[in-house]
Amino acid sequence: MNIEILTLFPALCESVLNESIIGRAREKNLFSVNCRNIRDYTTDKHNRVDDSPYGGSGGMIMQASPIYDCFMSIVKDSGIRPHLIYMSPAGKTLTQSRAKELSKLNNIAVLCGHYEGVDERVIEEIVDEEISIGDYVLTGGELPALVLIDAIVRMIPGVLASDEAYEKESHYNSLLEYPQYTRPFSWRGKEVPAVLLSGHHANIEKWQREKSLERTLKKRPDMLGKADLTFNDNLFLNSMKNRDK
Ligand code: SAM
Repeated sequence: MNIEILTLFPALCESVLNESIIGRAREKNLFSVNCRNIRDYTTDKHNRVDDSPYGGSGGMIMQASPIYDCFMSIVKDSGIRPHLIYMSPAGKTLTQSRAKELSKLNNIAVLCGHYEGVDERVIEEIVDEEISIGDYVLTGGELPALVLIDAIVRMIPGVLASDEAYEKESHYNSLLEYPQYTRPFSWRGKEVPAVLLSGHHANIEKWQREKSLERTLKKRPDMLGKADLTFNDNLFLNSMKNRDK
């Protein structure tokens, strides 16, 4: 997968993309990411990318032309028109399933807004999809873009140790993950559940499934409606609900 980030702050993006699992995946060429500075596509002598809004509300708006020219340079250089995502509080909220779908694309570009946002006409002209990372407003699109890219890239084969690593995690199957423990066995008087040391794989899997169901029921019952539940899962959930009555 090739990712292009259209940003006013390439160094901010690079600093995150060079670290940890994502940085190592990048080194191994499991995906490529390139940051383009929108300011490089300005034509005036002050390299201005923003101007005041028509209608006179406060703040500044990113102008359409530098963003458009930046995107067109990507199309020209690569010979491919990537799927362009604008990070926006007005977009659809990012989900694990959308991140999984996006991880199958070969070419994506991510536009990071700033100030009070971007001129609506460039959204209409080139943006394919708007994604929000939640119902709150940040100062710029770089952190949302990095959240999106992290969520996508970790599902590219080879980035994590195995597909299982994310398939068992929270949200993959509309369930929360079961509790996890590591050494030492006893910490501040709290011991690791005995079943996890039993070596009995079927019992461990049953415990993990039930804890996952129990935790989802307690913390995010809204998710259960979308989960793929078996007969036994429903029996277990009903017993939990009756116990709490
Ligand atoms: N005036 C805009 C509004 O009310 O919708 C908010 C602009 S925000 C201060 C500046 C930029 O940050 C946006 O253009 C967008 O790229 C990014 N941004 C802020 N919050 C975001 C969120 N929750 N999800 C995705 N992007 C966000």
